[in-house]
Amino acid sequence: MSVMNRMQRPWILERTLDELKDELRADGFREYAARQVFQWLYHKNNQDVASWSNIARANREKLAGLYDWEARPLLEKQDDGRGTRKLLIGLADGLRIETVLIPEKDHFTFCLSSQAGCPLACAFCATGAMGFRRNLTAGEIATQVLTLKKEISDYAGKLNLVFMGMGEPLLNYNNLARALRIITDADGLNISPRHVTVSTAGILENLKKLEADFPQVKIAFSLNAPDPLLRAELMPISRRESLDSLLGYFREHKRRQRITFEYVLLRGVNDSPAQARQLAKRLHGIPAKVNLIPYNANPRLPFRRPAEIDVEKFRAVLLDMGMTVITRWSKGQEIRSACGQLAVFPGNT
Ligand code: SF4
Repeated sequence: MSVMNRMQRPWILERTLDELKDELRADGFREYAARQVFQWLYHKNNQDVASWSNIARANREKLAGLYDWEARPLLEKQDDGRGTRKLLIGLADGLRIETVLIPEKDHFTFCLSSQAGCPLACAFCATGAMGFRRNLTAGEIATQVLTLKKEISDYAGKLNLVFMGMGEPLLNYNNLARALRIITDADGLNISPRHVTVSTAGILENLKKLEADFPQVKIAFSLNAPDPLLRAELMPISRRESLDSLLGYFREHKRRQRITFEYVLLRGVNDSPAQARQLAKRLHGIPAKVNLIPYNANPRLPFRRPAEIDVEKFRAVLLDMGMTVITRWSKGQEIRSACGQLAVFPGNT
């Protein structure tokens, strides 16, 4: 099918179940047809409508003419030798996005992108350094999950989805919310919202929307400095979205699960014991868990990873002050799929 033809038809992955039900009903299909389509797409991971055996041939042909069914291609794959895989997916307009599969002890984590590039330009982040191309659509988010699932097609256990890949998800709220509907729908990807984490640099208005629309989705907040001035240097968004307002919101808004505070440790910048004390005081009164992420050096950015002993000292201060702390030595550094390192496939920089 020519690109022009494809572009004229809506891509099937852009539809939520309710939208598809309305459209198919209007096109004369029975009520259950949309659920059948969803189950083939998302339960069976099959976009070849001609092969769908429980749908009458005439209906398959009609469906084939209504939508674009083309899968977005997997262009490249890198493996770190220990199971972490970074995949490069080609989009219809020629852009390319990265998505990562991470094996954990008892499950797999999918690290998803929400934008091509990122407009927030955090000083330590490779994605920020590549600039912003555009928001991803709901289908472009869902297709990352389908592509990653194909990598582990025999696995039927728990999946964790984290929006920690390229982009700031809350700057793409409408598409994120539509993708979350597809991801959590029992006839869609059927992943519990309790197994989804949205990580944000802090877009307060949309954070409130997310928590109202998806109260079970977990929130991770990319903090990185307890001092507002230092944070604004590292994360320019902090000049627009005040740290005090965000922490005040986290303190006051009651939710079922703790907030994860991500803290990328940068040598000589934000890794001193005094800053650890300041951090613990800042988070006082917030049900919190701190993820310490020793920085993964990037040759094009001027930051370095702290010594292991300094990471340990920082952690010890937080523990002494009663915090829950996990140190995440990021996986996938060899293929630059670790935190803040996406955007480095050849041609994506
Ligand atoms: S750290 Fe996150 S919010 Fe900041 S530039 Fe990178 S992708 Fe964007």
